Amino acid sequence: FALANVGVQGLHPYQPGKPIEELQRELGLTSVVKLASNENPLGPSPLAMAAAQAALKQSHLYPDASGFDLKKKLALKLGVSENQFTLGNGSNDVLDLIARTFLSAGSSAVFSQYAFIVYPIAVQAVGARAIVTPAKNWGHDLDAMAAAIEPDTKVVFIANPNNPTGNYLDRASLSAFLAKVPEHVIVVLDEAYIEFAGVEDFPDGLTFLSKYPNIIVTRTFSKAYGLAGLRIGYGVSSPQIADLLNRVRAPFNVSIPAMSAALAVLDDDDYLIRSQQVNSAGMQQLCAGFEALGLSYIPSVGNFVALELPCDAMPVYQALLKEGVIVRPVGVYQMPKHLRISIGLEHENTRCLNALQKLKSEGV
Ligand code: PMP
Repeated sequence: FALANVGVQGLHPYQPGKPIEELQRELGLTSVVKLASNENPLGPSPLAMAAAQAALKQSHLYPDASGFDLKKKLALKLGVSENQFTLGNGSNDVLDLIARTFLSAGSSAVFSQYAFIVYPIAVQAVGARAIVTPAKNWGHDLDAMAAAIEPDTKVVFIANPNNPTGNYLDRASLSAFLAKVPEHVIVVLDEAYIEFAGVEDFPDGLTFLSKYPNIIVTRTFSKAYGLAGLRIGYGVSSPQIADLLNRVRAPFNVSIPAMSAALAVLDDDDYLIRSQQVNSAGMQQLCAGFEALGLSYIPSVGNFVALELPCDAMPVYQALLKEGVIVRPVGVYQMPKHLRISIGLEHENTRCLNALQKLKSEGV
């Protein structure tokens, strides 16, 4: 049996971390802290957990394929219509759906160097061409991205804030960019981390939708809402685009517990506020600690920060692992001197900083 020579053979697989218990065993440590996957360090919202648990009673049933209740609640909250939503098994699923709906061999997608790793995967998986533009100050160079659009370009992906760099595009820059994009090109505004971006000039992508119907805003319950394990996210677009995406979407792509938990966490304002507070306090703690150690980092508005080392990051990553601190190397993004560190609880951040201090004193 010979494998067909399919394009996906050229893909680099997404590198997941090892299960935490497995690592703990391997390292012979009794406790480790995981600051590697931009998860919510608070644990799930109690309201969301109770709702997910109650929903298990319906485990023998298929979920509501239309996601009626959740779309209704989100529509009210966001000031858009129910028919503008596409629900996904995480927002990753929506990104994939966008690629499957609008891209194929013979078309191209534009995204930036250092942008979220799923864009090249989604684009190449459908046989489309990736046009990668060089970054500016580790962020998207919107002028370069606009100039890179070719006649066969169907989609532009923008992560705002971006992962793994944590930087953001302000309202004026994004607005100027959108005015330049031809209207037949879809612009994906991936806002997985928007709830953390508490800066004045941060643009809410939804505010551009009425002027630019070629936009798809993607959001997730994985980060500030703390439901990464349940897999639920969504896209907001014009009804016409949502209709196309929903034709391609697998009908039961979001489970009943996930939808129930999402509905519940939307009512848990305290949880969201605590997530934001813990994140901004943790971000300050980590960045102050890096500065005290003489280390630089890319200023971030996400729930993670890219630490820049004066050397190759891999030995530092390995040494941190031995100290029981799991962070994320970003070599796959061609950032060999950076480590992406998710913001944790105060004691977790302290453990990370203490480990860095120890490595520094040992000359690692
Ligand atoms: N977009 C960005 C920029 C991300 O960093 C992530 C998660 N790492 C996602 C989308 C997808 O998240 P999820 O599928 O959990 O919604």
